[in-house]
Amino acid sequence: MLQVNDLHVSVEGNEILKGLTLTIKAGEVHAIMGPNGAGKSTLSAVIAGKDGYEVTQGTITFEGKDVLEMEIEERAQAGLLLGFQYPVEIPGVKNIYLLKSALNAQRVARGEGEMPAPEFMKLVKEKLGYMKMDASFLQRAVNEGFSGGEKKRNEILQMLVLQPKLAMLDEIDSGLDIDAMKIVADGVNSLRAEDRAILLVTHYQRLLDYIVPDKVHVLVDGRIVKTGDAELAKQLEANGYEGIEESVA
Ligand code: ADP
Ligand code: MG
Ligand code: MG
Repeated sequence: MLQVNDLHVSVEGNEILKGLTLTIKAGEVHAIMGPNGAGKSTLSAVIAGKDGYEVTQGTITFEGKDVLEMEIEERAQAGLLLGFQYPVEIPGVKNIYLLKSALNAQRVARGEGEMPAPEFMKLVKEKLGYMKMDASFLQRAVNEGFSGGEKKRNEILQMLVLQPKLAMLDEIDSGLDIDAMKIVADGVNSLRAEDRAILLVTHYQRLLDYIVPDKVHVLVDGRIVKTGDAELAKQLEANGYEGIEESVA
């Protein structure tokens, strides 16, 4: 589904990703782990098409298409979605409006018509229930005044409504208490499907007790230095990233 090959990315003239190669198949859940500043967020941002990143070498293909040739909206409509792709706070834009316009833009791009309003409301209410969110969330401005946990739930709500082919979630567990993390993890687990892949970026192993990945990649200094299964995350939890960096050096 996704093939990243020898990707080099610079930000403001500094090379952050230094030859990163990664393959994700449909149906798989991959976790990217690594120390702060390794380039984890840069990777998901570049795949999603955020501004400010210069790809100097390498390729990204998604379902055979050249992602680097696609605009950010085209990527989202193709089913490549990074949580929080929208600005953290959008004053005045109601959550319900954003969800609806994002879903309909995607449907129209696929040649399906806009979803009728009653069907949309039914869908959103079902997903809200799943995330244990109150309907009043829909009438609030996007993320304005949301607590950390509410923002994370809202991020998963977007994913549940938009049903991307590749869902990328960056530090979805940060700042969550254990109950909120379980709800978020349940939401992510419910996204698992044979025709969908999930890329989780996380600094800590804790989340991976609840969302068990098929593959774990360790990203250090702009490169994937080790790949394993869920067991690798447990080793990292026990030994930290230092042993990994030394073994590479
Ligand atoms: P991680 O998510 O693994 O903690 P990031 O991808 O956020 O790492 O950052 C990798 C490196 O790139 C860091 O040294 C960071 O300071 C730098 N960096 C990331 N984004 C920017 C930016 N917009 N401007 C300048 N430097 C950046
Ligand atoms: Mg290279
Ligand atoms: Mg990060």
